[in-house]
Parts: sequence; C-alpha cells; structure tokens
Amino acid sequence: MIRLTEIKLPLDHNEDAIGQAIVDKLKIQPAQLHSYNVFKRGYDARKKTAILLIYTLDIEVDNEEALLNAFAKDQHVKPAPDTSYKFVAQAPANLTERPVVIGFGPCGLFAGLVLAQMGFNPIILERGKEVRERTKDTFGFWRKRTLNTESNVQFGEGGAGTFSDGKLYSQVKDPKHYGRKVITEFVEAGAPDEILYVSKPHIGTFKLVTMIEKMRARIIELGGEIRFSTRVDDIHIDDGQVTGLTLSNGEKLNTRHVVLAVGHSARDTFKMIHDKGIYVEAKPFSVGFRIEHKQSMIDECRFGPNAGNPILGSADYKLVHHCDNGRTVYSFCMCPGGTVVAATSEEGRVVTNGMSQYSRSERNANSAIVVGITPEKDFPGHPLAGIDLQRKLEEQAYALGGSNYDAPAQLIGDFLKGKASGDLGDVQPSFTPGIKLTDLANVLPQFAIDAIREAIPAFNKQIRGFSTNDGLLTGVETRTSSPISIKRDKSFQSINTKGLYPAGEGAGYAGGILSAGIDGIKAAEAVALSMLENA
Ligand code: FAD
Repeated sequence: MIRLTEIKLPLDHNEDAIGQAIVDKLKIQPAQLHSYNVFKRGYDARKKTAILLIYTLDIEVDNEEALLNAFAKDQHVKPAPDTSYKFVAQAPANLTERPVVIGFGPCGLFAGLVLAQMGFNPIILERGKEVRERTKDTFGFWRKRTLNTESNVQFGEGGAGTFSDGKLYSQVKDPKHYGRKVITEFVEAGAPDEILYVSKPHIGTFKLVTMIEKMRARIIELGGEIRFSTRVDDIHIDDGQVTGLTLSNGEKLNTRHVVLAVGHSARDTFKMIHDKGIYVEAKPFSVGFRIEHKQSMIDECRFGPNAGNPILGSADYKLVHHCDNGRTVYSFCMCPGGTVVAATSEEGRVVTNGMSQYSRSERNANSAIVVGITPEKDFPGHPLAGIDLQRKLEEQAYALGGSNYDAPAQLIGDFLKGKASGDLGDVQPSFTPGIKLTDLANVLPQFAIDAIREAIPAFNKQIRGFSTNDGLLTGVETRTSSPISIKRDKSFQSINTKGLYPAGEGAGYAGGILSAGIDGIKAAEAVALSMLENA
C-alpha cells in the first residue's frame, strides 16, 4: 500500500476527482489504480473563496515497488505505515493477581480495556455513577442547582470528557499510532466512521454516552470488573511498594499494580496521595473565562461565502497572544455550536467549561480564553498550592454570581472598558442554571485581567468581530489541566512508589480525551509487562 499526502482538491470537487488526482500525481493509467482509502481529510481555508480539501490517501496500485522507487525523492509518496495495534503481552492462564485501575475516564477506560483485551481481568474503581445515572445528576445540577459532589461533569463513568465537545485530536507525538487504536475502538463502540479520517474529529456528548456503555460491556465480557460509586480513599504502601487499597465502603483490596487515572479534579485524592508521601509536584495550568460569540459570525469570518458548507461544519479557531506583561493568553477547548456548562465538583464554587452535540448546531461558539500561570510565579511554596488557588478563584466566582451556582458574566465591550454589565446584547448566554451580569475584574488576579484585556482586541485582528461589544465572558475557567504532576519513571511507575502507575490528565501526562486514552494504553502495557515479569 502506498500513502499519498497533500493531495489538494477544491471544496466542491466531485467523487471522481480523487481517483483522477491519484492518476495525475503518479502519472499512471486509471486501470493501474485498484483502490484508494481516505486516511485523513483536512482543509485549507486561508483563501475563503477557494477553500481546499487536503487528503492523505492510502492506495493500492500495480507495481507499487517500482512506483515507490520512481518517487523516492517525493516526500508525499511513501509506503503506508502499519497503524494497527499490537498487544505487548498476553496474561498466562494461571495468573492470580488482578491489576486495579482507579478512575473510569478516557485514561482508565483504555487502560482497563487493553488490560482486559490482554487477559489481565482488571478491576476498575470509579467514584461516580454509571453514565445514565450520572447524566441525570449532571443535568439535575444544570437545571435545579442540586450538586452531587460524587456524580457530576467531572466524576462518573466516562470521566470529564463525557459531557464535552468530544474533540479527538491532540498534539502528542504518537509514533506507535496509539491514537489510531483509541479512535478505532471508539468507532467499534458506535462513533461515526468519519472520525477515522477527518483531521479534527469530534463526537459530541450524546454519542459518547452510548459508546461508553458499549465499551464497559466489552470490558466486562473480556473478564474485567467495574465498580461504580466506589472511591479509593487510601493506598497501602509497604517498603515503597503498593500492596492494596481502601475503598469508600471500607473494603480492603490487595493488589501490587494500580493505574492511578483520577483526572484533574480529584482534589481529595491528590491530598491523600501527597499525605502518603507519594512524590507530587506543582505544575503550571491556566485560568480565565469562557467567551461566547454567535457561531454564524465565526463561520462567516473563517469560511466567508462557504460558511454553512456541510463538509466544513461549524468553524473553530485557535488563538494565541503574547502579552506585554510577559503572560500568554490562548483559546482552549473551543466548542463550535455548543454550550457553556457548569463544571464544578465541589459545593460553593463555580467553574465553567464547554460542550456540544455531534451536530454542533447550537447558536453560539464558545471557548476558554485563558492565561498560563506557573507555580514559581503564581502559587509557590507547596505542591498542592495550585488547588488552593483554583478553589479561591472558584469561590470568588460563586460569590460574584449570587451564591446560587449562577455564573458571573460580563459583555466583552464592558469588560474591555472596565465597567459592570447591566443588560445583555445580541449574544444569548447558554450557561445553565443561569448567569449574573456583573464586573469580572476582581474574579481573577490583576495580571490575568490585564492580559485578557490586551489579548481580546489582538484576537480581533484574526477573527473580525471577536471583540464585539455583545459577546459574553463567563467565569471562571480553572480546570484547564491538572495543577499537579505525579512523577513517574520510564517504567511508568511513581518515582518513589513501585506498583503505582500515575496516568492521564490528573497525573500531568495528558490533556484531552485522545491523549488520556493513549496514556491509558501505555500504562496498561507497562502494568502487563511488569506483571508478566513478576509472575
Ligand atoms: P478524567 O476524565 O477526569 O477521569 C477521571 C475519573 O476518575 C473520573 O471519572 C473520576 O470520577 C474518577 N476518580 C477520581 N478520583 C477517584 C477516586 N479516588 N476513586 C475512584 N475514582 C476516582 N477533551 C478533549 O479532548 N476534547 C473535548 O472536547 C473536551 N471537552 C471537555 C469538556 C468538559 C466539560 C470537560 C470537563 C472536559 C473536556 N475535555 C475535553 C477534557 C477531557 O475530558 C479530559 O482531558 C479527559 O477526560 C481526561 O481523562 P482522564 O481519564 O485522565 O481523567
């Protein structure tokens, strides 16, 4: 199989154009081309009136070897790599120990799935509820302000990414194609086939819910066990080696192999880990607001006359600005055609995030506009100081919103002028249970407010209308990534606690669904190889 990259065709090309482009590129006869498969499809929208689709194609042709030789100097004609996943181990039939995975977010899901596929019969412990029950609790909070601190946007089957835009792309280097394994498993569980080939795939909330149920069933069928409403409250360590766990129901579970995939919001678990002496460091993260605009404005700006084209879908953006005060402001977790959601897992605090459905058809675009902060400058002194800072900002937002889980919000124009907002403009807020218009200036540190005030007009140069008076800022965005890193060595184990495999976003090794899933697979492989060695 040959892989062709950078095959560019007009947005409105017909079906035959791809085959013709292959024939033209390789200077072959049409009959020599047996088949082709679209491996990736992206677009180049720099010229709005002449948007191009850019294909990566895997093709089968006559005389592949000769063609590859003829195009040896062309970096866009190469042998197609084998992206299929190969298991690193198979559990022996007499293995008695069962590995444990803590957390059933994307990291724990893939760690559990791959361990189960290799025959290791993992036990997966998840503090939240199974996804249907969790959905009721989460929507209950959004509609009736009743927060269940163990079952919400952050906690429960599927993890933090369940109520999300389900974006499935990542910047991580992936030479072994683990990302392909994640995407392929998602498709087998019911995700649309197109996530295999579009350059920026997304799934959306409701599809994720059903997919996670199917993947759970698969793990159980393969010999895994999943316990919901089961929080891990203690890790037993003997002479630097994990020996077991205490669960929230008081049960003690013996195991010497634990994947710790608890996500970035397990603050009580982070404290427990630190108290046990497991090595933890503070790490940088970002804070800011959610910004909302009309999606039609973003589409128009990005795609011009092609706005609304179904192949392009709702437009996204990615923005970065380096500020005079040395800070960097960037857009994060952009959700085209989505809603801003209440994402706290703790009482008396307000946190924003974003989600959408597969159709991305809601009227607003939203993204986080956040400022990078570091332990050295902004929360020095203690490995868990970032959590204290997050809590302080979230409490300020709760108070400013009226202490009833409404989020404080401000029109962009008013924020830039430094005056409190009184009335909404033409962007209707999507956040539920509600927003309170106010002045956001005191909810974040002054350097962050200054940086965002400088960045929004700068972003307007790239997306005309970005600094529109009527756009809306809602706060606060604090759960952008983990405030700690649980250090591990090359064997994927904690640097001072053998048998503990910190993984995923909470441990500081992933940022997003895809990278968390990839890290879960790597952790599963490390556990399996260690168990075989010690068997
Ligand atoms: P998590 O998904 O956080 O999972 C950790 C799990 O561990 C949780 O289910 C939790 O209940 C459980 N847990 C915690 N402590 C314990 C304990 N002591 N005992 C037992 N269980 C425990 N990423 C994207 O790539 N694309 C998006 O579109 C996107 N949108 C998002 C939208 C929202 C609203 C949110 C909140 C996040 C979004 N993200 C998105 C981020 C993404 O969800 C995370 O990066 C990803 O879920 C991290 O995976 P994880 O498995 O490491 O952790």
